[in-house]
Amino acid sequence: MQLFEKLIEYPEAERLVLESTPRLPVEEVPLDGALGLALARDLPATTDSPPFDNSAVDGYALRSGDAEVGRVFRVVDEAPAGRPARKSVGEGEAIKIFTGGVIPDGADAVVMVENTSGWGETFELKKVPAPGSNLRAAGEDTRRGDIILPGVTEIGSPEIALAATQGYGTLPVYRRPKVVVLSTGTELVEPGTRDLQPGEIFDSNSYALVAAAREAGAEARRLYAASDEADTLRSAIEEALETADVVVTSGGVSVGGKEQVFWGVKFKPGKPLFYGTRGETRLFGLPGNPVSAVVCFDLFVRPALMRMTGRTDKNRPRITVYFERQIVNKFGRLHAMRVSLRRTESGWLAESVGAQGSGLVSSLTRADALALIGPASDGIPPGEPIEAIVLRQEKLVG
Ligand code: AMP
Ligand code: MG
Repeated sequence: MQLFEKLIEYPEAERLVLESTPRLPVEEVPLDGALGLALARDLPATTDSPPFDNSAVDGYALRSGDAEVGRVFRVVDEAPAGRPARKSVGEGEAIKIFTGGVIPDGADAVVMVENTSGWGETFELKKVPAPGSNLRAAGEDTRRGDIILPGVTEIGSPEIALAATQGYGTLPVYRRPKVVVLSTGTELVEPGTRDLQPGEIFDSNSYALVAAAREAGAEARRLYAASDEADTLRSAIEEALETADVVVTSGGVSVGGKEQVFWGVKFKPGKPLFYGTRGETRLFGLPGNPVSAVVCFDLFVRPALMRMTGRTDKNRPRITVYFERQIVNKFGRLHAMRVSLRRTESGWLAESVGAQGSGLVSSLTRADALALIGPASDGIPPGEPIEAIVLRQEKLVG
């Protein structure tokens, strides 16, 4: 199939990418490396949590049946967190206890030290505790065998905390995707290495795309080729294909030899997008224009990365927006327009961030969303509802 022989529509391109993207294999990863991945199976509680009855406060464990205001108790032992008392509590006795300390045998309540005459070998009770007061019961959080996290839960800090309470040192997850980003072009110079010569520009795409891949939860690295020479590029791509789940190139690179799924999408910015597979590896040939590269990443590569790890993309919600002015799309294909968002009484007002040229990197820093403007040649009237992909979720709550 040749370039642009058959341009396809954006929804079809998106479907083809997702359909050909299976979840990555399941792997046990250390608890502190699981952030942002999804659990591959239901996770059962291995123990009751907390594992034992313990105190919620600092004070004295005693028998609530003995409690009377003004009664003096004898302190027979102590139970700090991590070191259970050796003695049990008899009549008129108490054991000094701290938050997390094991409730000693015989005791059925804890009185806060503030409700006594204070720390000492004896104390006087100022307030009577009810049976069970200030006591955290074994298993009140989770019970052994309960499913504490169902499969495909996305792992955040709370999920890591819960798994840790059960002693899980690793979690079964869909593996983190490995992404290799290859920037190509004779004109490219690595930022920070030297000044530009006439005709040169700094490579910004590989940095942008590696950052975007990491933001999407992938492990990503850059491969650099300041070249347009076919053999150099071919060997760079071969190297990338060997180690990566996803290879992302940017710039006019010939990507022959891969199984082509499509080449050319009817949308702006990003018409020359290539997508192909080689075995289990996915290859995205993104356009060189910096805005096109980043927008194509967001629309195609990012959803594929989410799919590979079994996650839903909560950070790219789709909302309905409207424009105050008539919008004309003269490109004859879907336009993913960079817009800013503002909440009004009528909903989300979208405004173009200005010129939409695909080389204008600064426009990306001002874009809150991509409004998907269909190719209606007569123009879209003001107020018409339009679907938009939110890039800056914080705008929705701000
Ligand atoms: P190409 O797709 O190679 O024809 O490139 C289209 C435009 O994007 C040209 O102006 C290139 O100089 C520019 N471009 C290509 N690759 C990069 C890159 N890695 N960083 C910044 N601009 C680039
Ligand atoms: Mg180029």
